[in-house]
Amino acid sequence: NSTPNDLRAFWMPFTANRQYKKEPRLFVGAKDMHYTTHDGRQVLDGTAGLWCVNAGHCRPLITEAIREQAGELDYAPAFQLGHPKAFELANRLIDIAPDNMAHVLYTNSGSESVETALKVALAYQRVKGQGSRTRLIGRERGYHGVNFGGISVGGIVSNRKMFGTLLTGVDHLPHTHQPAKNAFTKGMPEHGGDLADELERIVTLHDASTIAAVIVEPVSGSTGVLIPPKGYLQRLREICTKHGILLIFDEVITGFGRLGAPFASQYFDVKPDIMVTAKGLTNGVIPMGAVFVTAEIHDAFMTGPDHMIEFFHGYTYSGNPIASAAALGTLDTYRDENLLTRAAEIAPYWEEKLHSLRDCPNVIDIRNLGLIGAIELKPIDGEPTKRAFNAFLNAYNDGLLIRTTGDIIALSPPLIITHEQIDELFDKLRKVLMNNI
Ligand code: PMP
Repeated sequence: NSTPNDLRAFWMPFTANRQYKKEPRLFVGAKDMHYTTHDGRQVLDGTAGLWCVNAGHCRPLITEAIREQAGELDYAPAFQLGHPKAFELANRLIDIAPDNMAHVLYTNSGSESVETALKVALAYQRVKGQGSRTRLIGRERGYHGVNFGGISVGGIVSNRKMFGTLLTGVDHLPHTHQPAKNAFTKGMPEHGGDLADELERIVTLHDASTIAAVIVEPVSGSTGVLIPPKGYLQRLREICTKHGILLIFDEVITGFGRLGAPFASQYFDVKPDIMVTAKGLTNGVIPMGAVFVTAEIHDAFMTGPDHMIEFFHGYTYSGNPIASAAALGTLDTYRDENLLTRAAEIAPYWEEKLHSLRDCPNVIDIRNLGLIGAIELKPIDGEPTKRAFNAFLNAYNDGLLIRTTGDIIALSPPLIITHEQIDELFDKLRKVLMNNI
């Protein structure tokens, strides 16, 4: 006799708060910009689910594509054979990708895409005869999923401290957040681009011939929306190129239109060697990820008869028919509604409304880029995260979904949000913030 909030068997350690055992917060439906709760209320989605439902909820082309595919070809083995939609999808992804990207490997999540990218980078250095290049460089406050490679290069110490030694030979660049200098900066901070020069320091320390790759999120999302200072990513690219180090962009959040271009790489005009994606690839509807690589990387593996034995990598569900169909339906929706560039049109309005919360009590910083926003709250002494959690609860009770990470409120609505819905979102948020949380 399970009740809707019976969590006896369910385990999700990540979930910071389990108060919903007593006070259920369940979604039972969704359409476009709104969720429906178990008690019949509408909640405006200020976070696109978890940064993934970029086209809005239950979109017809995606739903139909999944329905049709499920009735036609449910599964095809991922090795030695294939099915047409996986090939079609790869071509269509390359069509919208930065122009140096040539091939796509499929995964089932952001975390798997990260592991795949790190393995491709290390294996590539080896097949190029540079097996001494084994070091990986991430960044403080970087988030790259929850698997072993991802938490090793990720910059959240608490995520890895239980596990002792993870990947060895990992360094972390300093994060780019300079709160004192950047307070309430609209868009990209003017100063701090030279922080990328820390990479030169690490190269000097270890020697370039030991370093395989650098992985960064173009905009760090899950650790509180850290916007790269002007010139920072360009400088990372220059240093990587100079020393033969691969540059990996983790575009799990920034990919598929979040900044107003299909990918952050195009937005910043910086080309990585490997690009990690997931989330918006299928509009968050079905687990799927994709790792993009250059022709040079692909070609290095595809010489000689036994290339695939040298580099064994792939998943049972890589490019499975239903996920591929969902992704194609998603790309159709993005194309038909110009969603991959829509954030660029609406971003100025978004920025203005977001920064209008500056006068609310306990707001110590506001940051934004594309259709991403962050509001940093003053921590309550001895109770970090409490204020943001209170904001989350009050917003939810008033019909608005926000995401919190530490004492930061992160916003990333579906790209279909209207001006009126932006007004509604920030009116609700102002009420929450004014209400002594
Ligand atoms: N990389 C980044 C930048 C992410 O934001 C996330 C998820 N928030 C991941 C990787 C991991 O994705 P997943 O949860 O699908 O494994």
